[in-house]
Amino acid sequence: MDNPLIGYRGLPPFEAIRPAHAEPALDKVLAQNRATITALLTEDSNHPTWEHTLFPIEEINDNLNRSWSPIGHLHSVADNDELRKVYEACLPKLTAYLTEMGQNEALYAAYKSVAQSAEYAQLGIAERKIIDNALRDFRLSGIELGAQGKDRFKALKQSLSRLQTQFEENLLDATDGWNRRVHDERALAGLPDSARKLAAHKAQQQGQQGWLLTLEAPSYLPVLMYADDRELRFEMYQAYVTRASEHGPNAGQWDNTEVMSEILSSRQELARLVGFHDFAQYSLETKMASSAEQVLEFISDLARRCKPIAVREFGELERYAREHLGLSCLEAWDVAYCSEKLRQEHFQLSQEELRPYFPVPRVLLGLFEVVRRLYGLMIQEVPGVSSWHPDVRFFQIQDESGEIRGQFYVDLYARAKKRGGAWMDQCLARRRGRDELQIPVAYLNCNFSPPLGQDPALLTHDEVITLFHEFGHGLHHMLTRADYPSVAGLNGVAWDAVELPSQFMENFCWEPGVLGLISGHCRNGERLPEALLRRLRAAKNFQSGLKMVRQLEFALFDMRLHMGDEAMDGEAIQALLDQVRKEVAVVPVPSFNRFQNGFSHIFAGGYAAGYYSYKWAEVLSADVFSRFEEKGVLDRTIGEEFLSSILEPGGTREPMEQFIEFRGREPSVEPLLRHTGMLVETH
Ligand code: ZN
Repeated sequence: MDNPLIGYRGLPPFEAIRPAHAEPALDKVLAQNRATITALLTEDSNHPTWEHTLFPIEEINDNLNRSWSPIGHLHSVADNDELRKVYEACLPKLTAYLTEMGQNEALYAAYKSVAQSAEYAQLGIAERKIIDNALRDFRLSGIELGAQGKDRFKALKQSLSRLQTQFEENLLDATDGWNRRVHDERALAGLPDSARKLAAHKAQQQGQQGWLLTLEAPSYLPVLMYADDRELRFEMYQAYVTRASEHGPNAGQWDNTEVMSEILSSRQELARLVGFHDFAQYSLETKMASSAEQVLEFISDLARRCKPIAVREFGELERYAREHLGLSCLEAWDVAYCSEKLRQEHFQLSQEELRPYFPVPRVLLGLFEVVRRLYGLMIQEVPGVSSWHPDVRFFQIQDESGEIRGQFYVDLYARAKKRGGAWMDQCLARRRGRDELQIPVAYLNCNFSPPLGQDPALLTHDEVITLFHEFGHGLHHMLTRADYPSVAGLNGVAWDAVELPSQFMENFCWEPGVLGLISGHCRNGERLPEALLRRLRAAKNFQSGLKMVRQLEFALFDMRLHMGDEAMDGEAIQALLDQVRKEVAVVPVPSFNRFQNGFSHIFAGGYAAGYYSYKWAEVLSADVFSRFEEKGVLDRTIGEEFLSSILEPGGTREPMEQFIEFRGREPSVEPLLRHTGMLVETH
């Protein structure tokens, strides 16, 4: 049987790919790769070089990507039982291979030997960066430890993975372990139709009458935001913020307290084992921020500037609640509800009202026009390209000399068997082989409502922002000039700088000049009316101070939690959070609140000692955009500088160096404060 996943040229032949092809293709590529690595390391063991040893490794990694990326992608966008089974069978094989590579001492020795040879200084920056990154990653995975240390490292990794899963499962069980039946619809007063329908549907699923409220976000959030019944809001708030803790309706069940403290101590030990003072330092080793102190200073600077604004916003909210809603004391479970009422009164803006102005064909053309004006690049649809669904379209990006720079699939609409959310994924990375250049190809995926009836698909303004965001990641991937997959585009870019190009693109969605390009009423082509645009821009910064200090609270808590070397039990964790809140928070929190027991970003996900990255990247992207504001947001000269300093080098250079080259100085927080309406004029 010919396997279309092996050795195809150009784009993946999606129409020919079947789930049954995946495992044999993966087995074959992994076997080939293992054999090649063994051969390379034996042959050149005395004298490894870039050309003969490391260059081929880039090539075999790319072979793996070419065979595996279509399967990973299909699993995300066109899943079925057969594919899922195959995917689950393949994943452990892939993980085992990657772990093996990370632990391969001969491979490590080869990188080290090239790094220490005279050849190193002769190599280009991309090659040197690949070697430096590889050595760093080997070191971070404990390669230099003795046998005993290695065993301990592995044991800690395994227990961390078990503990993090345990944290997530406790939280999930606690979320599922509470619900509230409603027999009388009057209790749901204030809730929008969609939330009521969901609650009725949930009840039905359980074979019950009436309505069922749960702690899942689509049920919980609307209650906190819209339910007029204060008692109901309190009840759900209490259940939600005490999940997996010693408080609340399910006190002590699925309690994460012990798990959190074990996670922290395991991370601490792991970091110290490979030579770092604490986990914060270990985490920052692969980030743009240079030290925990720098991150702390970054957070406190923002807090100093934004807290007074948040205090004022909260005062306004308290006054509004007192005067208009008769609430003499604004409690944590009233905040979202009162804020929503205040927001509606101020701006009378609904995203639904905006939809007819953003038909997909118009938005795409406008987006492509922005790219043309900024970088002189032409984007055109290529018909007849094989894909996984009839809705998928395929485009290519060409520069003025006629060179094709990148290609992308666009898959915009929600449908069954497609993962939720929006994301950009890499299909092929740019790679210059011995005799040909592989052009980068991206997948752009969203979950917008499909076209209904005669009209094209219509987007809300939020969805337009999402599209621009993902397209920003796509441009980073596709416009790179780096010739090796491991540093092309986003690859090898520090975690806290990866969102720069994507958040940068979001800024355009608020510019009147750009809105003229991307909006046009689906019936008459009329552009977004001035009055609507004004309300849209005004609503953007509603309570931005409160939103900011909330993020700063999480970021500061996360960073301090991972600094220092003392063991932390539940009490110590709580004391730290109380202290952080005293410094930056504005909205009072009841003493039963155990937010930390559900903070899965840092306890179960990859954001440990990295939560600040959200704000960090936002500061960078706002500051980059401010240079465009100075000269005109669609200025071609600045656009080309952005292209050459940030997008094209991809992961070959340090992000701070790239930033300074473009901006002429280190990042400033002021543009972000200005964009969010929080720059206080100093006198
Ligand atoms: Zn993103």
